[in-house]
Amino acid sequence: MISTHRRKFFLPCIALLHALAACGDQGLTNYQLSGPTMGTRFSVAVVTESEFDQQQLQARIHETLDDVDRRMSTYRTDSEVSKFNHSSSTDWIPVSRALCEAVDEAIELSNLTGGAFDITVGPLVDLWGFGPGDSLNEPPSDDAIAEAISRTGRVHLHANCEIPAIRKDLAGLHIDLSAYAKGLAADEIASLLDNQGIANYLVEIGGDLRARGHNASKTKWRIAIESPYQPGNAVEKIIHIHDLSVATSGDYRNFFEFEGQRYSHTIDPRTGRPVAHDLASVTVLADDAAQADALATALMVLGPEAGMVFAERQSIAAYLLLRDGSSITERMSTQFMALTDP
Ligand code: ADP
Ligand code: MG
Repeated sequence: MISTHRRKFFLPCIALLHALAACGDQGLTNYQLSGPTMGTRFSVAVVTESEFDQQQLQARIHETLDDVDRRMSTYRTDSEVSKFNHSSSTDWIPVSRALCEAVDEAIELSNLTGGAFDITVGPLVDLWGFGPGDSLNEPPSDDAIAEAISRTGRVHLHANCEIPAIRKDLAGLHIDLSAYAKGLAADEIASLLDNQGIANYLVEIGGDLRARGHNASKTKWRIAIESPYQPGNAVEKIIHIHDLSVATSGDYRNFFEFEGQRYSHTIDPRTGRPVAHDLASVTVLADDAAQADALATALMVLGPEAGMVFAERQSIAAYLLLRDGSSITERMSTQFMALTDP
């Protein structure tokens, strides 16, 4: 049987987590803003006792999101990333400081995860139909996979943010920041809110979240981790957080099936193929959302066993949901239990 279950977005996103709205009656204003961005949706909840210029904040939030999109989208040909990707030059290419720092940080996270998270997977993401081009109904050939692998590798990507510039030493290499950009955008909006003196907020972009302070009921923000079997309709777990970020990667929103096998959008850079294990989703808690986003993808690549060993070794707060027949089994790292302990 062939079936496709695809969404065609700049960031093929998983809205695994929902902010649960809380309304307060303690003299607090609960300001909500939401809209489309990066092929998904964003929402910002601000809780404050003082007045602030909502229109100005709204404009600044849109500006911030547009900036990220102009830097990192692989879905618009005029973005900085697209220009870098379409160039076959192996010279340094000047880029904005923000993009340079994002790439530099992504290379570091790639090294930390032994290449499980790797933004040079671009050629493989495209080959498997999870990029801006057409989607697939069946896997590509082994030869095509081998050819795409030959154009990937984190060691072939360099960043020098004193210039600032980035460089590839393989002409065919291109980068894909989709596993990282939503978190990064959530962090940038959080900085914007911090700079405005806002102490209580919840920023969510396509399921990746960054929280600060408390909700309108003056309690921790309540975050629902959704069920991989009923995305959008059932909740697997609720966690309560103050100052923390949450990101989830899963195999159930962006995938195709061929001959009974699921091919999802997380690619194992070592094999050049979508991950093949029982992990349905990984949720990671971290200080910043970009890091949580990248680490969730990395654990998704590493799989339930190696992923949990890595999470324990690096003190990563990870929550894994595994397919177990028709049910789901959960696994939590020590750090996850510590951070979500009520
Ligand atoms: P989502 O964007 O749906 O929330 P992720 O954050 O896990 O999910 O990002 C998945 C996207 O990241 C894929 O669609 C692909 O563009 C890209 N990607 C796939 N595999 C990797 C990988 N191993 N390292 C970095 N990025 C990846
Ligand atoms: Mg991610």
